[in-house]
Amino acid sequence: MKTGYAWDPAFLGHRTISVNPEHPDRARALASEAMLAEVPGLLPVRIDPNLGFPGVLRVHPTSYVSEVRDAFAQGRRALDGGDTLLAADTFEVALRSAASALSVTEAVLSGKLDNGFAALRPPGHHALTNRGRGFCVFNNAAICARFAQAAFSVNRVLVVDWDVHPADGTMSIFYDDPSVHVLSLHQDGIFGKEVGTADQRGRGAGEGSTYNVPMPERTKPAAYLATFEKALDVAAVRCRPDLVIISCGFDAHAGDPVGKLSLDDDTYAHLTRAVKHVAKKHCGGRVVSLLEGGYQVDILRRCTRTHLEALLD
Ligand SMILES: [Zn+2]
Repeated sequence: MKTGYAWDPAFLGHRTISVNPEHPDRARALASEAMLAEVPGLLPVRIDPNLGFPGVLRVHPTSYVSEVRDAFAQGRRALDGGDTLLAADTFEVALRSAASALSVTEAVLSGKLDNGFAALRPPGHHALTNRGRGFCVFNNAAICARFAQAAFSVNRVLVVDWDVHPADGTMSIFYDDPSVHVLSLHQDGIFGKEVGTADQRGRGAGEGSTYNVPMPERTKPAAYLATFEKALDVAAVRCRPDLVIISCGFDAHAGDPVGKLSLDDDTYAHLTRAVKHVAKKHCGGRVVSLLEGGYQVDILRRCTRTHLEALLD
């Protein structure tokens, strides 16, 4: 396969305080030179910074984009209660993050790549249209879905989110939109009893296009994979996607300090292959994968490598 890798030195910015798990060391662990050397055959993706701003505006209103741009200068140090920290360059880095995701999407949809991964930060899947939260500023997965629909002949998109947290931001954006289906497997109750429950299935025209699959704490790889494959099949058959986007968090790993699921490195190879299989059946194998969580940097690097090798395979 032709598999692309997008990373930008800008991701070393957005210097959040060291106690925040979403930290520049995550980007350092995924620096492209080392990753391209470690995974033979991986192709670097040239990031087009001009894609970022118009891409973000397809999902987020100008009022929120301006708020993010101006917040630090106005003395704010977080976009929410304290998770989504602001540095002087946060707006620029978040735009680069979106641009890297969009550059991979552009390369896949124009046929230059079969699939690709953007090793970006800050992540995106908790961001609402008008609010950053949970380390997320702009919703990269939603931005790529809207770009694919606007700039390419993509009608339907399936977002598959295996981060340990619910894809609550992405779901809210597409909750009544039948053209973008969102499947989220996550730790049951990690955001309380109200978020990411199985009965939240979309609304109106979007009824049945949101799939929440809460997994009990300490779920092991075999049980997780069996549930994942079943849910993925149902979602793919209903969605018939023209593109599959992975919201690729690695915080469901047993060694992650944030989550309480018990996946291992190898799980991510299986998950990746399952998504590739579905993408091959429905959309010529087109997969765009975007980094979300994953807060233990050695595990983050190892699992990213495993994921990339499976994308390449
Ligand atoms: Zn997460």
